[in-house]
Amino acid sequence: MLENLSKLHIVRIGSDITYSSLKEIGNQIVESFRGIIEEFELSHHDTPVVDSIDAQLITMILFEEVGGHTLGITDADLKTTDEDEFYNSIFGGKNPNNNVAVVSTKKLGPKKIISEKDYDLFIDRTLKVSLHEVGHNLGLTDHPSYRVTRDGSLCPMSRGEFNKFGFKGYVTVIIDGRGLIFCDECAYFLNQVYGYIN
Ligand SMILES: [Zn+2]
Ligand SMILES: [Zn+2]
Repeated sequence: MLENLSKLHIVRIGSDITYSSLKEIGNQIVESFRGIIEEFELSHHDTPVVDSIDAQLITMILFEEVGGHTLGITDADLKTTDEDEFYNSIFGGKNPNNNVAVVSTKKLGPKKIISEKDYDLFIDRTLKVSLHEVGHNLGLTDHPSYRVTRDGSLCPMSRGEFNKFGFKGYVTVIIDGRGLIFCDECAYFLNQVYGYIN
C-alpha cells in the first residue's frame, strides 16, 4: 500500500478548471500531505460530454488508463448506487479496490461563475473535496464534522449528514468550513503509517 502513493496523478475530465488552477490544487495537496505526497502530474482525460457519470465506472477507467495513485476531477455529476449514500449523486468517491478517487465539480460552484471571487470559491471547494478524497486514498476515514483543527477550521476528513443539511447547506457548512490541515487523530494516523509530521 505504501508504494507509489508519493506521486499523485491529477486527471482533469472536462474543462471547467484551468490548468493553472489545477496546479494550485496540486501544490496545496502536496503541502497538506507534506512528506507523503511528494509530487503530482497533471493530465487530461477525454470523454464524450456527459451530464452524469457513474463514480465506480470512471474510477475503473482511470485505473486502467493511469493506474497508481490518482485523483480524477470531473465536471459531470457523479452518480453512485452505494446504499450508504443518502443521495445517489455525490461530491466525491474512492474506489475501494485501488487508489483512484474522483471528485465532481458539478455542485461546487455558485450557480453562475461570474466574478473572479466566484471562481476562487469554486476552486477552494474543489480543493477541499479533493483533499478529502485523496485522504481516503491514503487510508483516512470519514469522521463527524465537529472535530476542529488548531486553526479553528474543520478537518478535511469531516463529513456531515446530508439529510440534515441538504446539498446546498452541506457545501456551505461542511465543505466551506473545512480547512487544509488535519485534526490530531487524522494526523496521528498519517504519522503512524507514513511518518507524517503535523
Ligand atoms: Zn469521505
Ligand atoms: Zn480528521
